[in-house]
Amino acid sequence: MQGKIIKGIAGFYYVHAAESGIYECKAKGIFRKENIKPLVGDDVEFTVISETEKTGNIIRILPRKNTLIRPAAANIDQAVVIFAAVKPKPNFNLLDRFLIMMEYQKIPAVICFNKMDLVKETELVKLKEAYETSGYQLLFVSAKEEEGISEIRQALVGKTSAVAGPSGVGKSSLINLLAPQAEMETGEISEKIQRGRHTTRHAELIFVQEGTYIVDTPGFSSLSVDRFEKEELGAYFPEFARYESGCRFTGCSHISEPDCGVKAALSEGKISRIRYENYVEIFQELKDKKRY
Ligand code: GDP
Ligand code: ZN
Repeated sequence: MQGKIIKGIAGFYYVHAAESGIYECKAKGIFRKENIKPLVGDDVEFTVISETEKTGNIIRILPRKNTLIRPAAANIDQAVVIFAAVKPKPNFNLLDRFLIMMEYQKIPAVICFNKMDLVKETELVKLKEAYETSGYQLLFVSAKEEEGISEIRQALVGKTSAVAGPSGVGKSSLINLLAPQAEMETGEISEKIQRGRHTTRHAELIFVQEGTYIVDTPGFSSLSVDRFEKEELGAYFPEFARYESGCRFTGCSHISEPDCGVKAALSEGKISRIRYENYVEIFQELKDKKRY
């Protein structure tokens, strides 16, 4: 049979197979044969040991599309980053750091602003000003009023999405709307786990519908962008690429050089000032890091 690993705990893997449900599997042969550790998100072939007990053995991991570092997961198609439009006021610097990490890992990102029921027209204009020129897909939703939920659903369909966001933005409320059956499945798995195994918090896939999963990404903590050199940073702001041909110098940092296409676009409002300022701040951070 074929399925997707939705959870891994202490050497057991919970494999979701379309129609047939969740199987508790081991992966005995795989470690020895292929020397690879199964990850949440892996598509696998497994044999059923007992249909009544829903147990099996993973015999093959299908080729991975990618591997996300944090949370450790395979085959992530995109990231959906959730911020509240207000309450709490969105921290754009944090949002940009998250987007940079996704660009670095080549994971497409969608930005979702929740709590739109609390937003005044002028605040919406500001949000749009800040992110419309970035080129990322923007979703404006309200979990409370259940507005925009079908748009999120549409953005998710057929994909495995990592859902991230700082706490208090309504991430759980949205996930509950998107996958109301998730709590039930969690119960189903924990029933199996009850048999005296320790439980630590791992990445976990939530089944939304056939072929559609979300990974609830716990925390928003590891957003230090120190894995790369400052020279690379511009490449992680996709909208900059459109104007770089206007830069006089190759390798232009778009900060102090004359005749910079990015700065020209900024002054024409084609690049958002908030995004640009966060770029400059993070660039400086990466530069300072080198001194030590
Ligand atoms: P999480 O920490 O991101 O998982 O956020 P929760 O889903 O726990 O929500 C945090 C708080 O925001 C709760 O009090 C929710 O009732 C509230 N909340 C969530 N979504 C909305 C929304 O769309 N509008 C409003 N007004 N409140 C919301
Ligand atoms: Zn430039």
